[in-house]
Amino acid sequence: MHCQTLVLGAGIVGVCSALHLQAIGHSVILLDRDEPGRGTSHGNAGLIERSSVIPYAFPREFSQLLRYGLNRQSSMHYSLSYLPKVAPWLFRYWQQSSPDKLASASRAMLPLVERSVIEHDLLADAADMKGLFSAKGWIELYRDQGKFALAVADTKSYDRFGLRYEVLNAQQLREREPDLHGENIGGIHWLDPKTVGDPGALTRGYAALFVRRGGVLLKGDARSLRQHAEQWQVDSDQGTLNADQVVIALGPQSADLFKPLGYQIPLGIKRGYHMHYASQPGVQLQHSVIDAQAGYVLAPMVRGIRLTTGVEFADSDASPNEIQLRRCEAIARTLYPLGERLDAEPWLGRRPCLPDMRPVIGPAPNHKGLWFNFGHAHHGLTLGPVCGRLLAEMMSGTTPFTDPTPYSATRFR
Ligand SMILES: Cc1cc2nc3c(=O)[nH]c(=O)nc-3n(C[C@H](O)[C@H](O)[C@H](O)COP(=O)(O)OP(=O)(O)OC[C@H]3O[C@@H](n4cnc5c(N)ncnc54)[C@H](O)[C@@H]3O)c2cc1C
Repeated sequence: MHCQTLVLGAGIVGVCSALHLQAIGHSVILLDRDEPGRGTSHGNAGLIERSSVIPYAFPREFSQLLRYGLNRQSSMHYSLSYLPKVAPWLFRYWQQSSPDKLASASRAMLPLVERSVIEHDLLADAADMKGLFSAKGWIELYRDQGKFALAVADTKSYDRFGLRYEVLNAQQLREREPDLHGENIGGIHWLDPKTVGDPGALTRGYAALFVRRGGVLLKGDARSLRQHAEQWQVDSDQGTLNADQVVIALGPQSADLFKPLGYQIPLGIKRGYHMHYASQPGVQLQHSVIDAQAGYVLAPMVRGIRLTTGVEFADSDASPNEIQLRRCEAIARTLYPLGERLDAEPWLGRRPCLPDMRPVIGPAPNHKGLWFNFGHAHHGLTLGPVCGRLLAEMMSGTTPFTDPTPYSATRFR
């Protein structure tokens, strides 16, 4: 089989890349070892995070570092044996999180974040997936007066981005979320983001649109990729595929391909978990709620209430460690009357992260016809459609809607 462009990886990023390439007239084959949307794109918190205009930086205050160092936080956990291995990457992340560099990362990400909801709306409409979306925004919740006051003061720095939000006192929070328990001081209701009730199903819905429009979806192992006579080849369950161009969109597994090709791109992994809980009779979570101090999300989803954890630093393939989920669950049960667990095991996912908090989108510098689209970190669900558009515009040779220089693979040379 031959196609113009082969997209490797059918997570939200690969599926959206395939759709946008198809829209500019490429014949596209999308290849994954699994069904679409079964990787990281399956298990996230479902936020289309239009309000995340400042990327998640490495903490720089000493007190916070000390708290993390003690490894007793619910928001972050690390495996002691993994620390020496990840230390150089963490150091780069820390360097890139200085106020100046963070401001520049924020500027670089803004054109993508600004279009994130619009691009999802376009695809969701065409794929008949609008029913999975809610436009109620999400609530950032506080239990501590001092931290709430700081967060409210901090929202002023968001005004220049034109974001819509409401600061809620305890009473207003109760009115918006009547079934929350505990001594909650207040919250910030971010109104621009949307939320998705089943991110894996959304990815599969977009993949189905790709197939309806004539795209080919195949199973195979992307690690069989090789160059052969000016073409790219990969083995699939339908035989050998030949393509003029290939896109690596394997999320956290992208290094399995770019490393053997000689690229030293510092792709790191931040692991995270989810678990679903039944709703108690007569209670309902109206919005996705982020417990800002404890660092987890409670999201009302199709399957139940999904609790997603913050970051775990551990070897990508290390066995799951339930400690962080247990800590978050214990706190969450004081906030909301969660019912019983609905999953036999916690789901474990891996956020593909670069230390400068930007994805890699664009041509591979040393190989003709090889393209990258990976490293969307905490916001791959948000950014999949807009980054698919950017990649397709770059590959078509037209002027892209934004300058792609900040996402270039050459920045790591
Ligand atoms: C706990 C948690 C919560 C999150 N919450 C949010 C959120 O609320 N909003 C948001 O925007 N983002 C969120 N994220 C981040 C988001 O989920 C990721 O950035 C995004 O899913 C990455 O998408 P992807 O397509 O790059 O990777 P993936 O979804 O992992 O897709 C990669 C694909 O490549 C395939 N693959 C891998 N290796 C091979 C191979 N050798 N051969 C063939 N196929 C292969 C996999 O099967 C997979 O389908 C969260 C992440 C986590 C872990």
